[in-house]
Order: sequence, then C-alpha cells, then structure tokens
Amino acid sequence: MKPLLIYGGRIIDPSQGIDEIGSLLITEGKISWLGKGEVTPPRLDYDVVHAQGLIVCPGFIDLHCHLRQPGFEEKETIATGTQAAARGGFTTICCMPNTNPPLDNQAIIAYIKSTAAAEGVVRVLPIGCISKGRKGEELAELGELASAGVIGYSDDGQPVNSSRLMRQALDYSRAFSLPVIDHCEDTALSEGGLMNEGIISTRLGLHGMPAAAEEIIVARDLSLAQVTGGRLHIAHVTTKGSVDLIHRAKENGIQVTAEVTPHHLTLTEERVIGYDTNTKVNPPLRTEQDIQALIQGLNDNTIDIIATDHAPHTEADKLCEFGIAAFGISGLETALGSLMSLVHDGQVTLATLISKLTYEPAKLIGNKYGKLGTLDIGASADVAILDPDMEWVVDIETFVSKGKNTPLAGSVLKGKVMATISQGKLVYKDDSITLER
Ligand SMILES: [Zn+2]
Repeated sequence: MKPLLIYGGRIIDPSQGIDEIGSLLITEGKISWLGKGEVTPPRLDYDVVHAQGLIVCPGFIDLHCHLRQPGFEEKETIATGTQAAARGGFTTICCMPNTNPPLDNQAIIAYIKSTAAAEGVVRVLPIGCISKGRKGEELAELGELASAGVIGYSDDGQPVNSSRLMRQALDYSRAFSLPVIDHCEDTALSEGGLMNEGIISTRLGLHGMPAAAEEIIVARDLSLAQVTGGRLHIAHVTTKGSVDLIHRAKENGIQVTAEVTPHHLTLTEERVIGYDTNTKVNPPLRTEQDIQALIQGLNDNTIDIIATDHAPHTEADKLCEFGIAAFGISGLETALGSLMSLVHDGQVTLATLISKLTYEPAKLIGNKYGKLGTLDIGASADVAILDPDMEWVVDIETFVSKGKNTPLAGSVLKGKVMATISQGKLVYKDDSITLER
C-alpha cells in the first residue's frame, strides 16, 4: 500500500491536546508522521488527500450499535453496517449481542470476528452477553467471553431485571476489568409504553414510559457498582434524573461511565406528534429539559461518551401502526451531522464533541486492541475528515445501511463526513474529495 498524505487540514486530536493546521502521513496502516503548519514530509512517493478547510481527527468509535448478524440479516449485516459506519466517520464499532443466536459464547464471538475481518470495512469489536441466551437467568461464561475478545458485557435490548444477577455480573467481571453495560429500564413500570410519558403521550393517546423507569434501574445499578467495586457503564442515558444520579455517584467515587445518543441529544418527544414510527425508540425521546441536562452532563463529564445505538430495521418493521412498530433509529450515517448542531448552537465545543467520539470511548475499551482514538505516531491509521459547515440533505435512498429508519429523512444537516480512513485504507470518501496519486 502506497503511503497516504492528508495535507493541510485542521488537525484536532483530543488525546494529545492538538488543534492546529497540519498534515498527517500514513504508512503501512499506521500514523507515521505529523507535521504542523505547511510542511510536507521528507519523501515524495505518496498519494495525497487535500484537506484544506477541513477537520482531520481520529476516526470515531461507537461503543453501541446493532449489526443484526447473525439472525436478522434482513435488517443489517456486518458488511452493510460497517459500510454505514465508514460513511459516518466511524472506524471502530462495538456490536451488541442481541443477535440470534446471541453473542454468549466463544464460538459465536469467533464467527463475528472472522466475518468482520472478511467482509467488514472498519474494526468491529464485539460485546458479549451478561446472561446465557440473554435470558436474564444465569451468568454467561464471562471468562470465556473475555478471552474470546469481548470489550464488555451487556444484555442490551433489555435490562438485567434480576438485581442478584446484576450484582454477580459486576462482581465477576472485575476479574477481567471489563465494563458491564446496562440498558436501564424497569420493565414492569414501562410495560406497554411507546413513547415518553407526559402531556404529549396523553394527548396522542399513546401509553407512556416514565422517566422513573430508567432512573430506578440507574439508581439500583449504581448502588450495586458501589457494593461490588465493579465497572458499570450505563447505556443511552436520557433523563435529567439519571444525569443527576450519575453525577452524584461519580462524586462519591463509584466506578461508572455513561453514554448518550445523538438522537437523545437533539430530538424531543414532540417529534412523535404525527405518529412517525421512525421516532419510536427505546429509551424514548424525552423533553427539552432532559436534553439540557444531557448536554450539561457531556460538558461536565458526567456523561463520558456519545454512542449511536444504531438500530436498523426493515421497512416492514416500521411501516405499520405506531403501537406495533419496532423500536430503534438507524444512526451511523447521520450521527456527525446531527451532533454538529450542538456545536453550531454553541452548546458543545468541537473539541469536546470529537473527544466524546474518539478519545473517551477509546479509554473505555482500553489497550486490548492497541492504541485507538488517537493520531499519535505508531497508532492505527484510523482517521475521519470532516467539513463542519457543509449542508446536506438526509436522503435515505443513499444510505448504505439496510436500515432506512430515521426521523431525520429529508432534514438538512450542517456538518458532513468527507472521508474515512480505517487502518490506513480509504474506506469512504465524498465525491468532492479527490485523491491525488
Ligand atoms: Zn438499549
């Protein structure tokens, strides 16, 4: 592979505190040189991507997505999911284990890894189940899963209902220094719920899911993390109450990290008016007050990372009445564009946004897969090139994900991924970017 020079972009790398104009050389899949200002590296035989006026940052890391393979290949496959990731600027994605069969043993993890190596265009890191068969009854073989290479444990799609099992998971996972990732939902309280519980759900005649259903399990998990000393990661935080609980837990030294999705940061429950099934998601879209608390949480590090919870579905899963439609939003290809609205509105800095998509999730994954989320010399050449100001229309017909289910269809977003380089390979580029050979 010929070396690749990314020339003249604004390099932002939170892992090294870099934010300045410069160039980056990639050789044999690694970052081999970084030059500030207008200098070029001392050799001539390389391809060039001109990045003047663009941002060059580490490729994004998504700690939470659903690739649907094996078992639900009509919704997504490892091939299409990783292509969608590349289009979204992601170079590492962590897939949730709610497949069929679920990712609860060594053989199936090996299948994911070999399929990703053969058919994927970006790095795929699997998350293993907490319980056998995701049944919530007995623990999966956490040690076996750890040696197979999982980066954490989760029964996502559903919570761990049994407090005793959650306690055991937090306890045993300590031996492997891996996080237990919980989808926090008191299902007895949220049962039958289709959207956030409030005035709008009442007006629409849709059964609501109260904020308390999330907060009760967040509180329980924090308490169990304290008792066990285990590493807890809270998936898709959506309410002000949850942010407050996590904030206090961190102050008390509890080992907890948390994530928020682009849709929960940018869309409110008002989107459900009109009964667009693409707004149906679990946890549900909440209120403006919740969004403000989530943004505050990002800025004060109560919330560590942004993860997409990319949940692709078929047209049939969504083209039906609201009550029976599937929960979930296809999010990889719109993540940056929607998140950039927070930067344009002055609510989050660009450096914070990039950090929450690169350096912070890399810290959570650790060093098991080498240095990720950085443009440090010697690190895997995982790079995203962004135009922060380009406006574009979300056209689901052009999605490479099989999941066209997004409430953003037809919206104009400002901020676009222009190219993605994964392990030294150019895996996506916008038509306007030319590769000079
Ligand atoms: Zn979930």
